[in-house]
Amino acid sequence: MADREFDLFVIGAGSGGVRAARFSAAHGARVAVAEDRYLGGTCVNVGCVPKKLFVYASHFRDEMEDATSGFGWSVGPSSFDWPTLRDNKTREIERLNGIYEGLLRDAGVQHIEGRATIQDPHTVVVEGKSYSAENILVATGGWPTVPEIPGAELAVTSNEMFYLDELPRKAIIVGGGYIAVEFACIFQGLGVDVTELYRGPLFLRGFDDDVRSHLAEQIRGRGIDLRFDTNVTAIEKLDNGIRASLTDGSTLDADLILFATGRHPNAENLGLEEVGVEFGKGGAIVVDEYSRTNVPSIWAIGDVTDRINLTPVALHEGVCVSETLFNNNPRAPEYEYVPAAVFSQPPVGTVGLTEGEAKDKFGAIDVYRSTFRALKHTLTDGKERTLMKLIVDRASDRVVGLHMVGPEAGEIIQGFAVAMKAGATKADFDATIGVHPTSAEEFVTMRTPVGG
Ligand SMILES: Cc1cc2nc3c(=O)[nH]c(=O)nc-3n(C[C@H](O)[C@H](O)[C@H](O)COP(=O)(O)OP(=O)(O)OC[C@H]3O[C@@H](n4cnc5c(N)ncnc54)[C@H](O)[C@@H]3O)c2cc1C
Repeated sequence: MADREFDLFVIGAGSGGVRAARFSAAHGARVAVAEDRYLGGTCVNVGCVPKKLFVYASHFRDEMEDATSGFGWSVGPSSFDWPTLRDNKTREIERLNGIYEGLLRDAGVQHIEGRATIQDPHTVVVEGKSYSAENILVATGGWPTVPEIPGAELAVTSNEMFYLDELPRKAIIVGGGYIAVEFACIFQGLGVDVTELYRGPLFLRGFDDDVRSHLAEQIRGRGIDLRFDTNVTAIEKLDNGIRASLTDGSTLDADLILFATGRHPNAENLGLEEVGVEFGKGGAIVVDEYSRTNVPSIWAIGDVTDRINLTPVALHEGVCVSETLFNNNPRAPEYEYVPAAVFSQPPVGTVGLTEGEAKDKFGAIDVYRSTFRALKHTLTDGKERTLMKLIVDRASDRVVGLHMVGPEAGEIIQGFAVAMKAGATKADFDATIGVHPTSAEEFVTMRTPVGG
């Protein structure tokens, strides 16, 4: 190994790349990481973190309404200033960029600024300079996909949403994945008039059907104009805004159109084709169970491999690569019981199988479901209802799916994910004492199956 400069050269200092670089260096490897845009990658700069800050900002209007309508508070005139939120958020992200720089430095990882390409299975080029490495790890993430329709350049993607000059008065959000839903709720919470369009019959494909329909009802109830089986065919500029032509023949005017129409692996023009790396569906890099490509010295993790595109999964894959390569402990990432949240209003928390998946896998299942008005809303006019659902494999009694739409669903789901990963059965849930009064206690008090 000694005749090459590095044991590991990581391309991309995002969630997965930074984790793999730091952990590999901690095992004694000589590591470099190249980054051409921003330290911390999508999650820190234009993903999870700034989005969650915006989600917090969007909650205050509801809180103030609840406070005054039911809880006896009176609140003076209030208003929202977009530039303050945007710029405070940007300052925090810049602070995090600095923290990432420090993390790499402290771990002894060499940070190289610039766009990296692969010249051969052991050589990476950045800004005209070649670096030799025993192993190369591609962790270049994903990028928003924009539909090819006339006027598409007039719309924005999630990347631009974090830096808008002005908050629109009226926005059209196109897409049915979690990013579209989250931005629809953020904007609506900040006072924007929102229409969300999705080309399919029901959004959030891949989530449990009850969750999908329940959330659709809740966000319609909040005043979001949610339209399914509808897409945009063209966009044109108006004197004071933009106009979208829709598949149903109608038009819709707005100040802003967001395409949240999916993301694709960021694997083009990296030199991967030239060295013979295999690509799969949608341009994802194909890897084996240890995240190794068909070229033995080249590895890939995170969104560029399009397995489960979430930050904690990219982190886990990064740890596994460092264990496999530098700690004499070959470790394949595990994808069972990965919890996930949608930070909509109300939010979604989910872990394990949907009802449909559980039926296909186990045949005989029991389904427990409860919908109710959370205690907080009993003093207000709030119409929001919480949904909680458990899916149990009848043969083993294991809880194989757990889903929630309701306040703090993301926080609640994390603890249940531990129990489910450890193999908790419905009998274990039944034997667990609830925390009263909470919504979460419903998960340990549901006794009668509603179906299977
Ligand atoms: C709006 C939005 C919200 C999200 N919210 C959540 C959430 O709430 N929870 C969650 O778990 N996940 C969320 N995600 C997904 C999460 O951000 C990704 O799954 C995660 O960032 C993937 O990590 P990664 O390491 O694969 O790639 P990234 O974090 O995308 O990092 C890739 C890095 O590689 C760099 N790069 C690319 N090409 C090169 C090159 N040739 N040379 C040098 N550098 C290069 C890029 O600049 C980037 O910094 C969200 C994503 C978006 C877009």
